[in-house]
Amino acid sequence: MMATGTVRVEIPTPLRGWVDGQAAIEVEGSTVGTVLEAVAARYPALRPHLFGPTGALRGFVSIYLNQEDIRYREREATPVRPGDVISIVPAIAGGAGEPATVGLSREEMQRYSRHLLLPEVGLRGQRKLKEARVLLVGAGGLGSPTATYLAAAGVGRIGLVEFDTVDLSNLQRQILYTTEDLGRPKLEVAAERLRALNPEVTVEPHPGPLTSANALDLLKGYDVVVDGTDNFPTRYLVNDAAVLTGIPNVYGSIYRFEGQVTVFGGRAGPCYRCLYPEPPPPNLVPSCAEAGVLGVLPGVVGLLQAIETLKLLLGVGEPLIGRLLLFDALALRFRELQVRASPDCDLCGPKATQRGLIDYPEFCGVSAPGAPNASEIPSILPAELVGRLRDRDPPLLLDVREPEEWAIARIEGARLIPLGELAERVDELTGAREIVVYCKMGGRSARAVAQLTELGFRGVRHLDGGIDRWSRDVDPSMPRY
Ligand SMILES: [Zn+2]
Repeated sequence: MMATGTVRVEIPTPLRGWVDGQAAIEVEGSTVGTVLEAVAARYPALRPHLFGPTGALRGFVSIYLNQEDIRYREREATPVRPGDVISIVPAIAGGAGEPATVGLSREEMQRYSRHLLLPEVGLRGQRKLKEARVLLVGAGGLGSPTATYLAAAGVGRIGLVEFDTVDLSNLQRQILYTTEDLGRPKLEVAAERLRALNPEVTVEPHPGPLTSANALDLLKGYDVVVDGTDNFPTRYLVNDAAVLTGIPNVYGSIYRFEGQVTVFGGRAGPCYRCLYPEPPPPNLVPSCAEAGVLGVLPGVVGLLQAIETLKLLLGVGEPLIGRLLLFDALALRFRELQVRASPDCDLCGPKATQRGLIDYPEFCGVSAPGAPNASEIPSILPAELVGRLRDRDPPLLLDVREPEEWAIARIEGARLIPLGELAERVDELTGAREIVVYCKMGGRSARAVAQLTELGFRGVRHLDGGIDRWSRDVDPSMPRY
């Protein structure tokens, strides 16, 4: 006869609802099997979560005796002694993979001590984080704070997709980079910073961009993807790849003083397409480069993404799945809206027909062959415009930016009519035989050209690359912003 004694069974957060919220239960037994049987007898609602219909332990639950996985001992027959601790470790939503089997060094114990003190994290949680793999798409405003805190928290593998270099205008919010890094590849600098912060984590740089050709393979290697992108084609690409590979997608976006955060739940949805089945027409929603953004805002939103990522990896708390969190920095107010998995969603719905990735620039109507906006709008290069402005009969130069931008820099001789006022102030242009429109980068001016042409104006072109290109090609003394 084997001895019987009191053993402590640790209950993970997702299962505590079946045991009156208890974190641990003391029961008697001689083997792991008899102990778990005693627990299930006391809490019958827990039984289906531990045992299958045949009475065998479920494959998605791992059982540890003290620090050891019982699969490497005698499974249910593994004997227990009084004072032993049995841990139930269920696979977490989103499939963060196998339960943690790695150990922590003394240095790691000290580094993560504030985590180890939290019952919701503890040694087991910290080991899960060490085994976790997170892919960050974008290492800019959102990716900087997310990557920094995930590395500090001890997420074992952090993949970064990025192809940009550090620009002076990034430093107002992209806190991974410093003035000394100007002109260097962000990926290289970010990897250095994160390794310096925490040499225990492995940083996996993926020189971007993320494309339909590489996204599925890339995402397959990770447990969670964090969307820190700044354009619609990449957002849809990240979303679709996450649904198709079945991993959760922690979404964040920013605009001026407002942010959005939610978690898309992999194959079961909801997904970004449930929220927005179609992208907005190109240039309808200005980018941060055009509309501006409060520097701290991506910090707040990126850190909410980091929190959601850690919760998913640890399997604790209530994930932001099915809820869209809206943050208004000016009012300092958070609101929450429900996001349903749409039954009509073509990607994650029950009648879904989309089985693979598509051509995202084309889907979003940008920079694709034959896209109306990019190639059919007549344009003029800065070098040519310089000459035309010196002619005896120069074109009317129209600036469609906002007054704040006009105050930073403008091309001499231009007239300011912000795009939003163009329709009502169009009389001011009557009689012009030739018009050249410009904005910051060329997006708004393209819309102005289309608008004016529709109203019957002839000889309307826009400045290729906007005032930004003008300052690079023609007038380096002009401030860029
Ligand atoms: Zn969907």
